[in-house]
Amino acid sequence: MLELRNVSHVYGNGTRALDDVTLSVPTGMFGLLGPNGAGKSTLMRTVATLQTPTSGSITFGDIDVIAEPERLRETLGYLPQDFGVYPRVSAYDMLDHMAVLKGIASAADRKATVETLLNQVNLWNVRKKAIAGFSGGMRQRFGIAQALIGNPRLIIVDEPTAGLDPEERNRFLNLLAEIGENVVVILSTHIVEDVADLCPRMAVLAGGKIRLEGAPLELIEQARGTVWAKAIARDELTDVRERYELISTRLFAGRTIVHILSEVDPGNGFEPVRGGLEDVYFATLARTRRPVDTAALAA
Ligand code: ADP
Repeated sequence: MLELRNVSHVYGNGTRALDDVTLSVPTGMFGLLGPNGAGKSTLMRTVATLQTPTSGSITFGDIDVIAEPERLRETLGYLPQDFGVYPRVSAYDMLDHMAVLKGIASAADRKATVETLLNQVNLWNVRKKAIAGFSGGMRQRFGIAQALIGNPRLIIVDEPTAGLDPEERNRFLNLLAEIGENVVVILSTHIVEDVADLCPRMAVLAGGKIRLEGAPLELIEQARGTVWAKAIARDELTDVRERYELISTRLFAGRTIVHILSEVDPGNGFEPVRGGLEDVYFATLARTRRPVDTAALAA
């Protein structure tokens, strides 16, 4: 279990990227969802011991992450957002080199590790090819292979599916799901479907704060009665935007379907909908934009 308590981070320019984050992350896939600038990468880098928070504490099992970063690193696999290592070296040689860096000194152990990982991420057939020539999906799978060296118990993947086509994305997420059965995997993303497809637990981070946390299905259930839909003509959109808290718009058969957030029946032709995780997410972001968070006060 990874536990963050009251973690805050203020950058040198005064940006408060994390604001009193308290979060428990159990074994399995955990989705950290938030818009750009929410603080996700700051949180991921902090847990990965690449930066020290301004205040707060982080533990992983019996490891005090801030006081004993080297102990955490021994059991950490990290795929950063900008994993920029795409050299003209073969996948095999690069992974072997990274295994040396991770401390696997025996050549026989390294061979076994590298071969197992290349098979696991489905890159065995291209192991002799330069990573520089890999597609985006292959690079991300290589990124996961290097993160898995040394059997980490904590795996952090930061925005891994951005830019992947649907097939590559599927493949990558399936791979993560297999890995996530026995270890803690934190998947940081701004893509709602990544979390909906994979994660039994999740949190929404926005403006450096945890705004929502729980199991996606329960969060969807809790949102019942607060999301309302209506088909409108496109020129009505401005009016809807002004009068209601708009959480999404979607075109369907040439009509515009709007979803709004309202704790009471808005009338005016709106029907209640059983929202999906996307509604839950956008409703949460809409609530954070309110001048006073009335929903949180009522809860
Ligand atoms: P996300 O990963 O969710 O997009 P980040 O953690 O990258 O969010 O950024 C959170 C906030 O902190 C943003 O306002 C960003 O501009 C700011 N920020 C990130 N890195 C730095 C830095 N090195 N110095 C100053 N501000 C930063």
